[in-house]
Order: sequence, then structure tokens, then C-alpha cells
Amino acid sequence: DTLCNQIAAGEVVERPAAVVKELVENSIDAGSRKISLNLLQGGRKEIRVVDNGVGMDPDDALLALERHATSKIKTLDDLQAIHSLGFRGEALPSIAAVSRFELTTREADALSGRLIRVESGILRDIRETGCPPGTMITVRDLFYNIPARRKFLRSVETEMAHIGDQFLRLAMAHPEIHFQLTHQERLQYDFPRAGDLIQRAGQVLGFDKIKKLKPFSVQTPSIRLEGLVSPPDVQRASGHSLFVYVNGRPVWDRTVNRAILGAYDSMLPKGKFPMVVLFMEIQPDLVDVNVHPTKREVRFRNPGEILETVRNALLKGLLDSGR
Ligand code: ADP
Ligand code: MG
Repeated sequence: DTLCNQIAAGEVVERPAAVVKELVENSIDAGSRKISLNLLQGGRKEIRVVDNGVGMDPDDALLALERHATSKIKTLDDLQAIHSLGFRGEALPSIAAVSRFELTTREADALSGRLIRVESGILRDIRETGCPPGTMITVRDLFYNIPARRKFLRSVETEMAHIGDQFLRLAMAHPEIHFQLTHQERLQYDFPRAGDLIQRAGQVLGFDKIKKLKPFSVQTPSIRLEGLVSPPDVQRASGHSLFVYVNGRPVWDRTVNRAILGAYDSMLPKGKFPMVVLFMEIQPDLVDVNVHPTKREVRFRNPGEILETVRNALLKGLLDSGR
């Protein structure tokens, strides 16, 4: 699919949605109970993530940014050089290298917070500041310093579609977190902390659809599957209704998607997609989710067994839903 191909360029900061993913995942990792995403012009002008997680102490805040703080990014080659270093622990410096970047952060028991401003990877300002506990990161004018990349950004609508997709996938996996998305100062999504997956799925997919979704769970020695499955008459004309996670991270994997659709076999009209939420917990040694810097694609040690288990789990869910 096109999203995979675009990402397969091997670059992580490829568009606003990739920035959103890295920032929101960090906020999730920081134990936040609420995460707000605020966008201007589809993220092309501004991406701001505000969380109430653990925050960073002043030294750690600088450390999180400093890896590339001295490298001035001017050309596409510079950018590719950064990505070739591998991306783990590189998200913040890489984003700060291609934007006007601002971080404010405070630990709950600290008396004051820290503000750090970086442009094109160059430290511009660092000082004490008053701010609530948690972290706020603002990314303005993505790729303003790399015209060759800036011109590949798409329309506000297209960039928003990618961001929305990313946001919904992350929100679905964390019912315990209150998620908000604002575009042009208009609240587009507001998902208060939900009691369970089915309630969160209702917020994400719409409550009219959710009534027909059935929970399923299956356990084998090497894999645990759980989620929600829709009967075949609940359809959408896009793949955006498949939410698949491996060990908590969203993935978009062609073979898993095919196994899901295979369970529906001929029940679906051509071009229609069921609504499925599938969490796969797999022993770490049986899966490699790092084949790709954005962690969207996965590689299974024994794909046959796992895909068969997926198919059977969905079939079971479908039977329970009255087919
Ligand atoms: P990684 O997530 O792979 O460690 P990042 O560049 O995304 O690398 O983040 C670097 C570090 O900055 C994180 O490991 C974390 O310690 C800290 N950090 C980033 N974002 C936040 C946040 N929202 N709240 C608290 N700490 C954060
Ligand atoms: Mg990160």
C-alpha cells in the first residue's frame, strides 16, 4: 500500500504525521494521563503536543536534544546522513534539525521548568520557565530549512488525513489516556479516558458502529490475541478500519491484513473492509518489529503459525457475532 511505500524510503521524519507519531509515543511512554495534539495548517505550520507525563529534569531535557544540536542541516544529504545513524533515541534531535523546535518540561516536584528552543538543530535559547508539570513540544515550519523536502509536503487535507490516521491508531491502543486533537483551533477529536477497549473503540469508530463489534481473545503458547471484530455487514470503504498492534505498537502489515480479510473470505463485497481491532502479544524472540525505523512493519519468525492463529481468532469472533 502507498503509506508503506512512502515510509519505506527509510526516513522517519518524512511528513507531519511522522512527527506526531514520535511525539505522541514519547508522551505515552512518559505515563501521561492526558495528551493534546494541536495543529495548524495540517501540521505544516505547527505541531504541538502537550502532555501531563513525568516530564524531564533540566539536564535530561538538554540531553534528549543535544545529539545533533551542533549539526547544522542544510541539504538533503545532511538529512540522510542523520537517518543512516539509525533512529532509536534520535527522534527529538532529528525533528529539531528540520524545524523550529521548542520544548518546555517540568517534573511534578520541581519548582520551575525548563525551556529549550532549537532551530535547524542549533540551540537558540535555554532558560528556566514557569510551566505546568509535564512536557510541551512545539514543532513549527517543518522542513523550512530543506526546500527539497518542504515541497513534498502535500495539501492540508492530505497531511491531516495521515495525522488523523496516526492519532486514532495511538488513541485506540490507550483507552486509559484522554486524547484531544485540535486543528486550526477547532476541537476535532476528544476522547476522555475510557473504561475499556470497547468504550474507546466507540469513541474512535463511532458508537453506532460499536454495537455490532464483538470482543474475542485467543491464547496459544506463543501468542495472545485479543480485540474486536465486526460482522461482515459493517463495512467501510477503506483500510482505515483495521487497527493492528504488535506488542502495543501500531503496525500496518500486508500479511496480517490479508489474514484478517481471509477470515471473512467471500463474505465481503470487493473493496469493502471490516472493522477489526487486533492486539497481538507475541514473545519478543518470535517477532522483529524493528525491521523498519518507523516500526510499522513486522517480521515474524514463524509467520504461518501466527497468521493461522489470527485467522482462527477472527473466525471465532465472527461465529460469536452470529455468523
Ligand atoms: P526515544 O523515545 O527512542 O528514547 P526520543 O528522541 O524520542 O528517543 O526521546 C528521547 C528521550 O527524551 C526519551 O527517552 C525520554 O527520556 C525523553 N522524552 C521525550 N519526550 C518526552 C516526554 N513527552 N515526556 C518525558 N520525557 C520525554
Ligand atoms: Mg521516542
